Amino acid sequence: MNFEPSREFATQQLEKFINKNLVEYSRLRNFDFGPNNRSNISCLSPYVTHGIISELEILNKCLKKFSFLKSEKFIQEIFWRIYWKGWLELRPKVWVDFLKDLKEIKPSFQNNQNYLSAINGKTKIECFDNWVNELKNYNYLHNHTRMWFASIWIFTLGLPWQLGAEFFTKYLYDGDSASNTLGWRWVAGVQTKGKNYVALEWNIKKFTNNRFSNIKLNENPTQVIDDRNYSIINNSFINSNLSSNQDLLIFENNLSFEQSDFNNQSFKNIYFVFKGNDTRQIQLDEKVLSFKKSLINNQIENLKNKSFNCKIINIQDLKNIKESLLALYPSVGENLDFINLNNLKNISFLYRKIDQFSWKYCNKGFFNFKNYIPKIIQEFI
Ligand SMILES: Cc1cc2nc3c(=O)[nH]c(=O)nc-3n(C[C@H](O)[C@H](O)[C@H](O)COP(=O)(O)OP(=O)(O)OC[C@H]3O[C@@H](n4cnc5c(N)ncnc54)[C@H](O)[C@@H]3O)c2cc1C
Repeated sequence: MNFEPSREFATQQLEKFINKNLVEYSRLRNFDFGPNNRSNISCLSPYVTHGIISELEILNKCLKKFSFLKSEKFIQEIFWRIYWKGWLELRPKVWVDFLKDLKEIKPSFQNNQNYLSAINGKTKIECFDNWVNELKNYNYLHNHTRMWFASIWIFTLGLPWQLGAEFFTKYLYDGDSASNTLGWRWVAGVQTKGKNYVALEWNIKKFTNNRFSNIKLNENPTQVIDDRNYSIINNSFINSNLSSNQDLLIFENNLSFEQSDFNNQSFKNIYFVFKGNDTRQIQLDEKVLSFKKSLINNQIENLKNKSFNCKIINIQDLKNIKESLLALYPSVGENLDFINLNNLKNISFLYRKIDQFSWKYCNKGFFNFKNYIPKIIQEFI
């Protein structure tokens, strides 16, 4: 498995997946055949998370080749991402509470044997230890494996989901505040209250082609209780006024300016904002930071070839800029936290059209959201 940090690689990967593997996606997607055999899934998440390719671009390509019915499962997965994002945007306190819980919990687990064994891949649960090494080596895990991993972490090793979400964020190339936090909450059974995801030995064996033995798990766990309820905030996600010749900020979630809704506007300068570990609440592995930096540099290179004025700046530099700035909306997560914590009121946001249109349907569960997928597709494709 190879994640080259460039838009060119990402678009080739998309083409290849759609042309060769999409037809079998629905039948094979749940199998984890190991890091050397990933053709049954797209492996696009590191690029989608960084906005190197957009969800709309994927949907467009997909629907040009296949009917909605033939590609429905894959399309739904793309919409899971949009849904999780919107769900968190409507309830940003879930993110705030996750970071607060993490800060409170972490010190008491520093010498916890189960925690240390888990993060070092020494639990003696063969599959789990294997996945820890795979995550650290490849900075990616298959979706089904993420579910098993999180379930074993929470229910067999008895560790808080928040520490697991932090561990994933540290190592995943696709680490995403919404998909990751809500994915862990979902497995724990606090997202859809009372419905936890329990990893079962037979299921792991079947969907890993019997690659692992010694899978002794707690298959009848007690519930994780979290009584907090989150009400929906009132935010209409309206764009700030665009005037020509302003500066534009791009954060790590929207790197491909040319794919954005604002690619026809003229901006004086485009600043790509890099956020290092000095300003992060969750520290990232050096490989992940370097992946992000390389993606940014690749975008700058591409834009410079087209005569755009653009450069990379450190997020700390935003504190020294006093004039008003426009920014492609960074979404609930560490970059938005930085803007809010530092009270950078001179930054105003531009939202993606697909988010503005879709997020209003994220007020309930995914099964409700799913009903709007054809409507969203009709609006944009
Ligand atoms: C505990 C847990 C943590 C996760 N953390 C992240 C994360 O930090 N970042 C992240 O992008 N995804 C996360 N996911 C979702 C999912 O596992 C990955 O998006 C998927 O494995 C990426 O591989 P792929 O690109 O080959 O996916 P494919 O199966 O090829 O799907 C295509 C695209 O659809 C989207 N997608 C697919 N499944 C999901 C899903 N369940 N939720 C949201 N979007 C989805 C992704 O953008 C993906 O690239 C998490 C899931 C779980 C259970």
